[in-house]
Amino acid sequence: MNITFIKDIKSFFAFKRNIFKFQKTKINFTEEYKIIKPSFTDLYESWTPFLVQERIDGSDYNIVKYADFFWGIHIAEGNIDYERISETETKHKLFIGETIEEITYLIRNLKNNSDQYSKNYVHVWKNCYSFDKSNNSKLLSLFPNSPRLKSRNLPRIDLFELEQSIPILILSPAPSRSCNYRCEYCFNHDYGFRNRSPEMESWSKTLITAVEKIKNPLHLTIGSSGEPLYQKLWLETIQEIHQYDHVETIAFVTNLSADPRKKIENLNPKKFGILATFHPSQFKDYERDTKTFIERAVELKEAGFQIAVNYVLIPEQIREFHNLKAMFASRNVNMICNVLRGPYNGKIYPEAYTEEEIEMVRTCHDSTPYVWDYQSLSKSPYGQRCTAGRWGFQLEFDGSIYNCVYSRQKLGNIYDDKVMLYNESCYCDADRCESQCMIGMMDHMAQNYRIEKNMHTFVVRDVPGKNIVL
Ligand code: SF4
Ligand code: SF4
Repeated sequence: MNITFIKDIKSFFAFKRNIFKFQKTKINFTEEYKIIKPSFTDLYESWTPFLVQERIDGSDYNIVKYADFFWGIHIAEGNIDYERISETETKHKLFIGETIEEITYLIRNLKNNSDQYSKNYVHVWKNCYSFDKSNNSKLLSLFPNSPRLKSRNLPRIDLFELEQSIPILILSPAPSRSCNYRCEYCFNHDYGFRNRSPEMESWSKTLITAVEKIKNPLHLTIGSSGEPLYQKLWLETIQEIHQYDHVETIAFVTNLSADPRKKIENLNPKKFGILATFHPSQFKDYERDTKTFIERAVELKEAGFQIAVNYVLIPEQIREFHNLKAMFASRNVNMICNVLRGPYNGKIYPEAYTEEEIEMVRTCHDSTPYVWDYQSLSKSPYGQRCTAGRWGFQLEFDGSIYNCVYSRQKLGNIYDDKVMLYNESCYCDADRCESQCMIGMMDHMAQNYRIEKNMHTFVVRDVPGKNIVL
């Protein structure tokens, strides 16, 4: 199944504008499809409209992902006005579903005026219809290769009833997006410092709730979408949760412009995984600030912290990577790198790399070719088996739990009495898996590699494994 994503810069910014407009929208909700717009004002992945497929089966309908549902929307509705869509006051029939296939099926039958259509749809409200889920097995027989439908049929197990020795990996980035740096390639922040925003308050409460409710050994990846070491509430939250015995790892990304040991009292170095990203473009005095960064990274390593240095492969920085890696290696610090993704200097990457740059970037990933494969989009995770949603998950700041941030198979909410995780590896239905800690969650990766505490250092296994942190 082809999935269309935004690739050119103009559409990317139009897409961003759409998000801001959308935040003012009021949403209705129904019992069947709970569409409850959070009161938060920050960007929120679930509430970002996303074009998935155009003109299904040659019909006049597109499929859009929005509010964690897939929507079949007639092209005559014009520019997508989400206020009108969510009020379902459309001229044409509107479809809502949990999978692309439900929508595809209904549109296909609508187009063919098939009798099957009327037997398989349910009126939701106003002009909106959904697939009758009592016909799920029929849908799976029609779309036997659909990862989302296959995942939906997997056995489940309650997170709070899991055997307690099983370690759980939680990815829960704080939604602050504030930072003391202004890296041009950053796709995370709006440069606003709001230490006690409602989103951050909600994140802190959610994370502490997760730590209190889940008794299994916990491995937390909880950086911020900006620089966490300058965020008071982030620091207070870490201070609190790192004292729990079953919290085994707290991993986060920092630009290391501050020393974590001076920000959080009584840190137990053994619990921490620090991914220190080297951003030379932001240094005021290159020589002095580089020296400080290196000394700080080495001191943290010597103090017992698990630390790796990270680097973004923007065209201007690619050539320096091998020298820097060797320099850090001589100081016993591992250095890794990320393929540039997203807008930079008026282009969208990785697509905009030149042939020469691609070759250089590829050699930077000589020891981690799988990272190159997925970050360069040469490989798609679509259809792969993955431990996301089974032994690890994405916890969003309102408590929602998804298998991961790309595939977004919703599993529940940490405030619920039960959270039904998959009891087998799920089927991925994302077209990309770019984050290194998520790449490591795929079954074939977990078999061959274990991930160290900072979540970006892959250790080759002697015997095949299953769980990425074991
Ligand atoms: S340090 Fe990180 S969060 Fe801050 S601007 Fe740079 S890339 Fe963005
Ligand atoms: S972690 Fe990657 S492979 Fe696994 S479900 Fe998410 S996107 Fe797919």
